[in-house]
Amino acid sequence: MNIHEYQAKEILRAHGVPVPPGEVATTAQEAQRIAAGFGGAVVVKAQVHAGGRGKAGGVKLARDAAEAKERAGAILGMKIKGLTVQKVLITPAEEIASEAYVGVIVDRASKSPVFMVSRQGGIDIEEVAASNPDAIQKLAVDARYGLLPFQAYWLATQLYDGIAQQRACARILRQLHEAFVASGASLAEINPLITTPAGELKAIDAKINIDDNELDRRPEIEALRDTSAEPESETIAREAGLTFIQLEGNIGAVVNGAGLAMATMDLIKFYGGEPANFLDIGGSSNPEKVVNALRIITGDPRVKVICFNIFGGITRCDDVANGIVEATKRIAIRVPLVIRLTGTNEEKALEILNAAGYSATTSMDEVVQRAVELANPSAGA
Ligand code: GDP
Ligand code: MN
Repeated sequence: MNIHEYQAKEILRAHGVPVPPGEVATTAQEAQRIAAGFGGAVVVKAQVHAGGRGKAGGVKLARDAAEAKERAGAILGMKIKGLTVQKVLITPAEEIASEAYVGVIVDRASKSPVFMVSRQGGIDIEEVAASNPDAIQKLAVDARYGLLPFQAYWLATQLYDGIAQQRACARILRQLHEAFVASGASLAEINPLITTPAGELKAIDAKINIDDNELDRRPEIEALRDTSAEPESETIAREAGLTFIQLEGNIGAVVNGAGLAMATMDLIKFYGGEPANFLDIGGSSNPEKVVNALRIITGDPRVKVICFNIFGGITRCDDVANGIVEATKRIAIRVPLVIRLTGTNEEKALEILNAAGYSATTSMDEVVQRAVELANPSAGA
């Protein structure tokens, strides 16, 4: 789950990280009022779940409250990476002497939290990693002990030369780590961590991504969810109990079980196709899930074909077949469906589908090849 910058900043503040004050506005008038309250120059910042807002014009300096109103008016309603800006954060403008990057992620390769720090803050860390990887220092921490004081200090020495700043930075890194663990994050970063001309360190941008598996035991974090800022398809999927991830291709896939979903993605790629999504209807038998799955997939205009790959175990093939027939009654499906069903109640499922004018195969290879052909008619097989 993604949360907004202002929410991430609240979490960091609660753990002691020096974060300048800020307030959220949903209208230009409100932005003006907040800016007037701060007095002086402010920064108006789009609150969307997307990086690189600055470059997209979503972060603007305003000299006074009147200008803040104008800036907020321009940013609210703007689209950044397909997401409409509905809120802006108003925060006093800081004078910047230097910008650093500090972050911690769950790293699969080292099976531990890994800290990354760089003197080249402000810009996207992916860019630094690509163009100048030596400018990033990394440190894996043992999850049993957390970030130890000497490790925090070592990282801080990679960023700052003065002792006072190294100490301040080491403290911030430990607070960042505490916030990361406490919120069940998969990523927590401050970019930039600035120094002011007076030498103070401050976090002026923050990003925290929450591991969805950590949400059940953290209702206060789940409460930060902003469904209006999430793609609608993901909200429908979550509410329907489906695991759904949007991808870039044009073959919609409906599968039961994460392992089969992975295998299906692989086979689609093997035959030269590109999956449009990862959609797992899970183990339970419930035609309604199939209807919801098709509702989500048909909402994506890029999808050229929908490929069912069902291996019936606990999932009953006849339930899936009923779901397909039901869905075609309720939703206009304008793309071809190709269906593979095998396992529990397979014969019954085939009868249901045949009666409704659909055919199905029991071969996964066949169905995926057919889907790839239908998705790329010109390419030939
Ligand atoms: P991002 O583009 O989404 O990462 O948004 P940031 O909040 O990181 O802002 C992008 C850049 O705008 C920063 O790296 C700074 O260079 C600049 N910026 C943001 N806030 C301030 C501020 O208070 N004062 C000044 N001078 N620059 C700022
Ligand atoms: Mn940033």
